[in-house]
Amino acid sequence: MPARIIDGKGIAAALNAETSRRVTAAGIRPRLVMLLAGEDPASAIYVRSKDRAARAAGLAAETIRLPGSVAEAELLGEIARLNVDPEVDGILVQLPLPEGIRARAFIEAIDPAKDVDGLTPVNAGRLLAGAPFLVPCTPLGVIKLLAAAEVATAGARALVIGRSALVGRPLAALLTGADATVTLAHSRTRDLAAECRRAEILVAAMGRAELVRGDWIGSGAVVIDVGINRLADGRLVGDVATAEAMEVAAAITPVPGGVGPMTIACLLENTLTAALARRAQPCAG
Ligand code: NAP
Repeated sequence: MPARIIDGKGIAAALNAETSRRVTAAGIRPRLVMLLAGEDPASAIYVRSKDRAARAAGLAAETIRLPGSVAEAELLGEIARLNVDPEVDGILVQLPLPEGIRARAFIEAIDPAKDVDGLTPVNAGRLLAGAPFLVPCTPLGVIKLLAAAEVATAGARALVIGRSALVGRPLAALLTGADATVTLAHSRTRDLAAECRRAEILVAAMGRAELVRGDWIGSGAVVIDVGINRLADGRLVGDVATAEAMEVAAAITPVPGGVGPMTIACLLENTLTAALARRAQPCAG
């Protein structure tokens, strides 16, 4: 039987509706500000999608566009201004930043209370300590997809491929928190195919088009494909060879329409979380 498709688009729409309902119930209008530096076309599309989704859910959204040649001091100045602006609940620096700008310095400048991407050391540390507050949107989306698809994580052997601060590392921490037995693989992993075959939950997040083949996947595994890769012919594919994987897996996310919409939905939820937390502790800024 071919694998069940995990409908990220539909699950994200339900989460957005719930966020919108909570926004209305709280009687507030959480404000998300995105900083977009440079002309990267994919980043411009992502920011537009986030802006549109935020407004549709009843949030206020704003994008500050800066030239690729922006001075680091100017970008830091914008973040400092947004940190102290009481009207701003969430700050997102769209990555990647233009060549020559050190992303870490900007991420670390964001007030952790407004860090809706969950990438500051404070929020990353909270997650590692098992006390998460604002969690990176893509891994949070993966966990929510597994929950919505009723995949049992407790005791399951989970493999995450990719160890970035944005996806793989926080996802390994979240899966650990969800009682999975987690292996974190990367470019130096020996015999990745063998690691994959052992996994009951396999998450591919390395940005290598269709690297994970059907015969790497254990029978009945649940496959979450985080990768987004544009092929020379213009097609968008994930990190998993989907058609092959469908023959062996129990369930799989499509690309597009899987993890991508969940990333945006979790950003909106994080912005609401930040807004509610700031209003509960107004002195925190
Ligand atoms: P990244 O920072 O480039 O990290 C890639 C990771 O994959 C690294 O840890 C790297 O290992 C590992 N890797 C690379 N080639 C590998 C190989 N052949 N075998 C095993 N591991 C390998 O990328 P990222 O930001 O985490 O993003 C990963 C993918 O997810 C990309 O396709 C990106 O577009 C996609 N993404 C999607 C969403 C979404 O919303 N759907 C959001 C974010 C990212 P080393 O550490 O050893 O170099």
